[in-house]
Amino acid sequence: MNRRSFLKSIAGFSFAAAGAQLAIPISAKCKMLAPVTEVVGKSFLDKRIEGGIARLKSDNPYLKIGETHCHSIFSDGTYSVDKILQRSARLGLDFIVITEHVQPKTFPLAHTLASIRERSRCCREWSHPNLEPIDVYPGFEVSTLQGHLILVIDQDYLKPKNLRELETQFSLFDKKYIPMEDCAKMVQPFGGVSIIAHPERTRTAYPFGVSIPFAKQNLSGLVDAIEDISTGHSYEENYSEELGMASIGSSDDHFNLIIGTTVTGYDSRKHKNLLSAIKARETQAIKVNDSLDDLLGMARLVL
Ligand SMILES: [Zn+2]
Ligand SMILES: [Zn+2]
Repeated sequence: MNRRSFLKSIAGFSFAAAGAQLAIPISAKCKMLAPVTEVVGKSFLDKRIEGGIARLKSDNPYLKIGETHCHSIFSDGTYSVDKILQRSARLGLDFIVITEHVQPKTFPLAHTLASIRERSRCCREWSHPNLEPIDVYPGFEVSTLQGHLILVIDQDYLKPKNLRELETQFSLFDKKYIPMEDCAKMVQPFGGVSIIAHPERTRTAYPFGVSIPFAKQNLSGLVDAIEDISTGHSYEENYSEELGMASIGSSDDHFNLIIGTTVTGYDSRKHKNLLSAIKARETQAIKVNDSLDDLLGMARLVL
């Protein structure tokens, strides 16, 4: 199916869903859209992303690329951790950070810890014989007083015996919203990094994307990285240069659909892993595929 006929075939569904948007909770919307995203992924998008990633890697043999922002059923995503890891590996990504939400009274830290336990299990019991296992980092997306901040932690914290330490350090996130500056500091003892998610994007009901003036004044030198390109939020900027942070490209995928369309890359000759590349401010945001830009514009009316 080509891009034009595909978009035409699903436009009717998108507009119907948009028309019905107001009274439907997010979980119901996700269920409603799941069959559509399954078709989109299989019939249209996967081959395009796979091809884009293969070209990128053959042109840059030392480049490691991956997804740093997506959600599974442990928060508000529609797909299991296993399905997300399997598809990401098939697309050719080298690493992935699944970032469940952590928010007082809405998304408890316990769900994130269960998600990390599941990521660890999937890696240990990798059962996809034709696929190289993908590199997994523990991480999550915290709702702070100024907006969403992603924390990515050393891979040692995938080990179930170390999860108790995460619970002790981060249980505060269940009780109250804290300033983004304080949240960024809390990841440092875990060898981790912090990433500003979808800056300048706003929601009327709650803090979502921190403003650039606030980040410039309060977060430079403290937060490590910022999302310069996002497929899910449809923008392409260069905030990182202005703020002296590492540049991140990601999808904020909730449907196991657009993972891999925008990625973060680093040179594996210079850095042993993603965290060291982010700390050195030597990452790149890279757009791999923009086939779904038109559709995502429509989907945002629904979500
Ligand atoms: Zn977010
Ligand atoms: Zn997110």
